[in-house]
Amino acid sequence: AKDKGGACYQFYTAAMNAHGNERLRLEADLRRALERGELQMHYQPKMNLRTQAIVGVEALMRWRHPVLGQVSPAQFIPIAEDTGLIVAMGRFALEAACADAQEWRRRGLPPVQMSVNLSPRQLTGATLVSDIAGVLQRSGLDPTLLELEITEGAMMKSPETAAALLHELRALGVGLAIDDFGTGYSSLSYLKRFPLSTVKIDRSFVRDLSTDPDARALANGIITLAHGLRMKVVAEGVETAEQLEHLRSQDCDEIQGYWLCKPMPAEQAYEFMAERRVP
Ligand code: C2E
Ligand code: CA
Ligand code: CA
Ligand code: CA
Repeated sequence: AKDKGGACYQFYTAAMNAHGNERLRLEADLRRALERGELQMHYQPKMNLRTQAIVGVEALMRWRHPVLGQVSPAQFIPIAEDTGLIVAMGRFALEAACADAQEWRRRGLPPVQMSVNLSPRQLTGATLVSDIAGVLQRSGLDPTLLELEITEGAMMKSPETAAALLHELRALGVGLAIDDFGTGYSSLSYLKRFPLSTVKIDRSFVRDLSTDPDARALANGIITLAHGLRMKVVAEGVETAEQLEHLRSQDCDEIQGYWLCKPMPAEQAYEFMAERRVP
């Protein structure tokens, strides 16, 4: 019995080490990914449910690892968060997204809103407001076309500081969206407390719309509540026509999801939008 226990223990630590090594390796590689040009922004269009026009895109980061190929953001964003690498990566994301949006304008596309994800770590950085002002100035993008997506968790860490910061960002003219709404611990009072312009209904509610009356009640409630507070509502993760029709019947403003298209590189996103343009 003793031997068996020892073997188990050894196996356990070996597995732990393998896991730890993999993470350490990714961490080391991520440090170099930015300078080696392995990071790229992809864009997923959002459609207005009343006009069917493409009214915005969400910028999503992609990492093409030289050996492992595509690494999921679910894997590398947490590492970037923990190590602080997210600050430099977040700057890159903002810079690339604003430059691409401005380039689409230059090539004749009607204005679309560019939404960029902000991590909690970026929200606590001292230079965020001046960073964003700088990016807007360099790109020449109209500030009202930039939207920052922030999660509830990021605002909860220090609500006072976050509220002040978000007011400064709003003063620049940029929009603020609360991401993954309904999945965190925050209360409804956050909607009133922070100067938000958009609520994004999390994919978990959208996924269960046709099968779960509770998910439907929550989605409907979020839409009514957000509209009552004069906020725009975007539903993420829309995959079926049934989900879309339900959201339309509830007067949801915009949808995003595989039903419309997956995230794609800048050039493809440009072509997608140019072809759909109503003449
Ligand atoms: P998120 O902000 O909630 O982004 C939406 C995620 O849902 C994206 O995953 C998108 O590809 C995926 N998605 C969109 N439509 C559908 C659909 O119809 N079905 C399904 N199953 N999925 C859909 P992605 O690109 O893997 O990103 C995962 C998360 O990583 C993001 O969640 C966000 O939290 C984070 N992330 C990605 N890019 C960035 C970035 O540039 N900065 C920061 N801070 N976080 C990022
Ligand atoms: Ca997002
Ligand atoms: Ca989201
Ligand atoms: Ca989500």
